Amino acid sequence: MQPVKIKLVDKKYLFIEWDDNSESKISLQKMRSLCPCATCLTQKENQSKNYIPLLLGSQITVKNIEVVGTYAIQITWQDGHNTGIYEYPFLKNLATDSIQA
Ligand SMILES: [Zn+2]
Repeated sequence: MQPVKIKLVDKKYLFIEWDDNSESKISLQKMRSLCPCATCLTQKENQSKNYIPLLLGSQITVKNIEVVGTYAIQITWQDGHNTGIYEYPFLKNLATDSIQA
């Protein structure tokens, strides 16, 4: 599974067209709040269950997207955070997950 097209929509969503002709629309806010990098995961572990993340505009604005190997994309956010590697199956799950982040 590979993306054939990736684009930003309304600065709020990432739109991905896959090589199996399926499409995913993923909220950037959701992507940032579920950033899979070690720093963010550790931060999340240390927060209480009732913690509500407050994301700044710069944290959910995409500055750059790079393809990593054949399995993931790496996103550089406007605030400089770029350690999150989003694997394709993970992205697909984010898109189909009905729970809004
Ligand atoms: Zn992160």
